[in-house]
Amino acid sequence: MDLQNESEVKFFQELRSKSKLVQTYENLNLLQYAVDLIPVEELNIKASLKLSLIEVEENDVTLEDVLILELLSWFKNTFFKWVDIPKCESCGQLPEKRGIVPAIESEAVWGAIRVECYFCPRCERTIRFPRYNNPRKLLETRQGRCGEWANCFTLMCRALGYDARLVVDWNDHVWTEVYSFSKNRWMHCDSCENACDVPLLYEMGWKKPISYIIAFSKDEVQDVTWRYTSKFREVLNRRNLCRELWLLNCISSLTESLQSKASPERQRELKMRRVLELAEFLTPPLVNQGNWSGRTSGSLAWRIARGETELDIRPSTFVFNLNALEIEQKHFHIKYSCALNKYIRVSDKSSEIHNWVSCIFSYNDIFRKVENDWNIVYLARKEGSPKGVISWKFNFEDSGLVIQTLKLNLSSTTFGEGKVKWFLYPGSEQSIPRIYEMKDVTPLYTQEFKGSSGLVISAELTEGIGDVAWQHSQLFRQAADSSEFPFEVEIALDKP
Ligand SMILES: [Zn+2]
Repeated sequence: MDLQNESEVKFFQELRSKSKLVQTYENLNLLQYAVDLIPVEELNIKASLKLSLIEVEENDVTLEDVLILELLSWFKNTFFKWVDIPKCESCGQLPEKRGIVPAIESEAVWGAIRVECYFCPRCERTIRFPRYNNPRKLLETRQGRCGEWANCFTLMCRALGYDARLVVDWNDHVWTEVYSFSKNRWMHCDSCENACDVPLLYEMGWKKPISYIIAFSKDEVQDVTWRYTSKFREVLNRRNLCRELWLLNCISSLTESLQSKASPERQRELKMRRVLELAEFLTPPLVNQGNWSGRTSGSLAWRIARGETELDIRPSTFVFNLNALEIEQKHFHIKYSCALNKYIRVSDKSSEIHNWVSCIFSYNDIFRKVENDWNIVYLARKEGSPKGVISWKFNFEDSGLVIQTLKLNLSSTTFGEGKVKWFLYPGSEQSIPRIYEMKDVTPLYTQEFKGSSGLVISAELTEGIGDVAWQHSQLFRQAADSSEFPFEVEIALDKP
């Protein structure tokens, strides 16, 4: 390889070392060891369930696509741990940073070149954090930063039989790409972020200056920069580590040598993919398609990945009516737990109804947020939306009964400037509401709705500050293992 300067030497070494790394995934024992750690059956069941909930046009989304989302979510929430500073194992405190030291032999055999050194003054002990590069070792340590995450996750994808690439951003991030046969293209997958198919996340979301992004698989080395930027000109101006033609030659020759052992059929398939991929790179990705965050038109797959969809797909106009038992008892009682994500209709032999959206009369830009890191769940408005609205409707007209007294528990939580307003409408949503601008309507006993043949309860979530404004107004916030019911409506009824 013709190397013009120091910078190209370094570039080439990096290309070769990453290309070598991904070859190690192909060891059959390693792949078997990895797949044995994945709860494949459980992930498959979850994926099938989710797939059955969404409307799929032709091969738009396949089980294979949804399974990747499940793998991402399992990997992030259950399997791998993010470590900024390793805690002291004796006292659990964060130690002081002492710098980088060379690896000792037992670390070096697992591919650790750099070892970060820390010191716990309380226990007077040194803590070593070897940055392992060997994916076999990472299956045991299950921790690290994005380098370790992407390395291990890409191996997991291979273990499940996906064509996968390790994607290296020359600035400082690493992630994965998985080939989707339903889409005939490579899909971006970031295990640290539990993000799938949002390639503009870094440029648009994180405001990262993109320069070189190179993908490595057992079959190829590819310059995939153009999938991750919409600013081709700016990126080209930033690319000054090597000559463009030189890079192209490096990549072609590495790829050629990798594919030389592949069957003619496989070679044809890879060539076809390459042609499609290059065609994709001809035009910058559209920024306004919501393809860099979970906003409005993000791909369905992405929204599922973020747990934002649930039954979002089903237009909701559910109305509570009284059944025979409730008419006889002149009593109606329903409660909802966000932790369990289910309603219990106490007045109907405590029957259960799953999913918040199942009993909703109307809603707009609302979803159930699960914060796995904090073990907290709540309903919130969608990211980027200025206002979320949700309502429940109770219509007792057919029963011949009217409301006597009403007992409500409506809990909400606000942060910063976030606002939640509760509206109570007697009869229908066309009537004049009573407005409660308070966090918690807990409990509210009232006879104000006496004589009314129905009720609409509605909440409006607005304001908050900055990018996370949507998180500043929340309904029914509770610990994921809580057994409480932060939404409760109990109505005593009688003849008018
Ligand atoms: Zn300590």
